[in-house]
Formats: sequence, C-alpha cells, structure tokens
Amino acid sequence: MTARALLLILLSFVVLASCGRGSQNQSRQVDLSSAEIPDDLTSVCGDPAILGIELDDIREGSCGIDDPVRVYFVSGVELRQSAVLNCETAKAFKSWVDTSAQPGAADVNRQIVRFRVASHYACRTRNSQPGARLSEHSKGNAIDIGGFTFANGEVVNVEDEWRSGEYSSMLRSIYGEACGIFGTTLGPDADAHHQDHMHFDVANYRSGAYCR
Ligand SMILES: [Zn+2]
Repeated sequence: MTARALLLILLSFVVLASCGRGSQNQSRQVDLSSAEIPDDLTSVCGDPAILGIELDDIREGSCGIDDPVRVYFVSGVELRQSAVLNCETAKAFKSWVDTSAQPGAADVNRQIVRFRVASHYACRTRNSQPGARLSEHSKGNAIDIGGFTFANGEVVNVEDEWRSGEYSSMLRSIYGEACGIFGTTLGPDADAHHQDHMHFDVANYRSGAYCR
C-alpha cells in the first residue's frame, strides 16, 4: 500500500469518526494535491491520528530534539507548514485540536481543515531577542499558530480576528482552553511579540501553567 493510500484511509477514518459530533454537517475537504506530503508519511508518536515522519535527532549547539517528528496532519487537520516537534508537543497539540479547537469551531457551525503554522522548531532565543534565554522552540517544545481555515474556505487570522473579528470570541475561547493542555500559552494580549499568533509550549507545567 502506498503512503498516500494509507493517508486517504486514515483521513476517511477520522472523517467518519468525527461525524455526529457537533451540529455542523460539512464534509471535510482535504486538498491532498496541494500538500507537500512525503511518500513515507505514517502515524507517529504512537497515535494513529498524528501523521508525519520520524526524523533523526536534531543537534544544533544548545538547541535540538531527541526523537523529533515532522507533523503533517493532526486528527485529519492539515498543518501548513508542516511542524517539527517533539512528541510531547505533538500530542498536546492533538489534544487541543480534539477537545478545544474543533469543538469550538463546531459551536459556530464550522470545521477546521487547516492550521497555519507560524513557527515550530527553531534554534533561537525567546522572541529572537539577542542575549535572551533559548526559546522553547529551540527544543521542539513549541508551536505557533497564526490562523486556520474552515471547511467552507473562510480563513481566520489571529491578528485580524482577535479583537474584533466575526470569530473573535470563538478564537479567544479555544485559545483559553489551551491553558493547561500546554504549560505556556501566549497570545495577542500577552505582549507585542504575539500580536499575530498563538504560542503554545509544553514547558512550565511544574510551576503551574503560564497563560497570557
Ligand atoms: Zn512561539
């Protein structure tokens, strides 16, 4: 079986599994033709709903990830660009998609089919400020979401939508629910560095979640 055939089967399963949840009945449209899907796409992190590829360990000075994965789909939702993460982060993101993001979309009769990933693994300091501590992005612990696309083609950008958009309350609600699933969440209300995306990372659990 080819990887693409496997993907289609897995996506069909996810669509079937999601039928009957929420009040909307839009069919899920995943545009496979435009996605850069590798032939060796498979389920990763021990979760059939997380599709990606396993990468070799990343070592870049003080940055790096053990057992990194590049994630392309989470619960049938495409990540564009694909995201290099550790499995703890990939699983937390999937949990947020399943328990917060997609149900929040269903509440407004929408379905998320794609996330716009603004940042994932990157060997850099916090907010790319010289001399600052290394960002959680440098360990594969973080993902930044700039927005998402609904099945009907509507595009929601965090920057445009946060304060006054049609989906402002939905966006704030699903962002709020990420607190605790992730150890740290930073959004447009946090500071000037987060006006156009939601930062989620799995650090900080020990001292309690930090959400702004
Ligand atoms: Zn970030």
